[in-house]
Amino acid sequence: MTNTFQIAVFHGDGIGPEIMGPTVDILRKMADASDSYDLSFQDVPAGAAHYARTGESLPTASMDVARSSDAILLSAMGLPDVRYDDGTEISPQIELRKALTLFAGVRPVTVRQGQSTPLKMPEGKEIDFVLIRESTEGLFHTQGCGEVTKDEARETLLITRDISEKLFRFAFDLAKTRKSTGRSAGKVTCVDKANVFRAFAFFREMFDAEAAKHPELASDHAYVDATALWMVQKPWDFDVMVTENMFGDILSDLGAGLMGGLGLAPSADIGLEHAVFQPCHGSAPDIAGQGLANPHAMILSAAMMLEWLGIKHDNGAMRQDGTRLREAVEAVVAAGDVLTRDLGGSAGTSQAAAVVMDALFVA
Ligand code: NAD
Repeated sequence: MTNTFQIAVFHGDGIGPEIMGPTVDILRKMADASDSYDLSFQDVPAGAAHYARTGESLPTASMDVARSSDAILLSAMGLPDVRYDDGTEISPQIELRKALTLFAGVRPVTVRQGQSTPLKMPEGKEIDFVLIRESTEGLFHTQGCGEVTKDEARETLLITRDISEKLFRFAFDLAKTRKSTGRSAGKVTCVDKANVFRAFAFFREMFDAEAAKHPELASDHAYVDATALWMVQKPWDFDVMVTENMFGDILSDLGAGLMGGLGLAPSADIGLEHAVFQPCHGSAPDIAGQGLANPHAMILSAAMMLEWLGIKHDNGAMRQDGTRLREAVEAVVAAGDVLTRDLGGSAGTSQAAAVVMDALFVA
């Protein structure tokens, strides 16, 4: 029997709809070609342009569809000129993270042979690690309500046992999956600042407790400052890294830099029930409406969605399609013949997406 999965689709702002369109086309074609699963897409409004039109950034009806869907596909949101009265930007993606308790921000970083990177890669080496950024607490806990007086400003970092234990369980499960598919040797690194802050000693203690349950996997610790150095000097040594919200926010952009830019950086925000899949980049207003946006981060995020749904629902074909889609994008990027401008090429969005479609269905 074919299982049909409901996907809530947020087209977003700026380049958002330009990269979402071809991504949904690819997913539709993959599902049509499969007799093991089907996908049903429902467009839902939210974002800065929607707020400017209606005064609502994330309508309750959209939230309801997101909550009842099997997965959420979300393109970039926000526009610098559209703001709430308090001066902050419209960011439904952050509201979704909090409302659906999406504690694990998954940011894969891959550099395959042939792919352009600012690093000088040793012969035969590739980069393939995943950074997991806790996404509901940490230094973002008081986001929007920090105390500011004339002479002082305060924000509070929060680390809870509940979320940390879920986060570390997720990290070790991911390392197990990667090891079982031959993608890595199976290691989890806790990135913290336990030498200075008691909160991070607490974080590390809970990491060690989870590590003790997985003797088949290696585990170690690294201070966040040293991690930034090693991500440049020997990124191929990492497998799964897990860290606090703000540290992860910063390190994930370093990871995107290793890959050659934000246009190649996918992400997933995952909780126990729900998950949102979206590119790491924003709505790129400077190139919006010109057909120049790189669609790969969005397509790679969709590949992560297929993999996650496949694992969650024990659907091997879907999981394989996720891998196939990721590998198709990686092959296109490594070949380097058809690249968008951000990667040094001259292709437009539709050409860059078409070459992935061809790699899947024509080659
Ligand atoms: P941005 O990521 O939108 O753009 C930064 C630079 O990268 C720009 O030069 C842009 O042209 C380029 N770029 C980004 N994505 C690209 C792609 N797919 N292809 C080619 N080039 C790409 O960051 P910003 O300019 O700081 O933010 C613009 C808006 O996006 C803001 O309103 C911001 O709040 C929002 N934003 C949203 C998210 C999100 O939805 N998760 C993330 C970051 C920023």
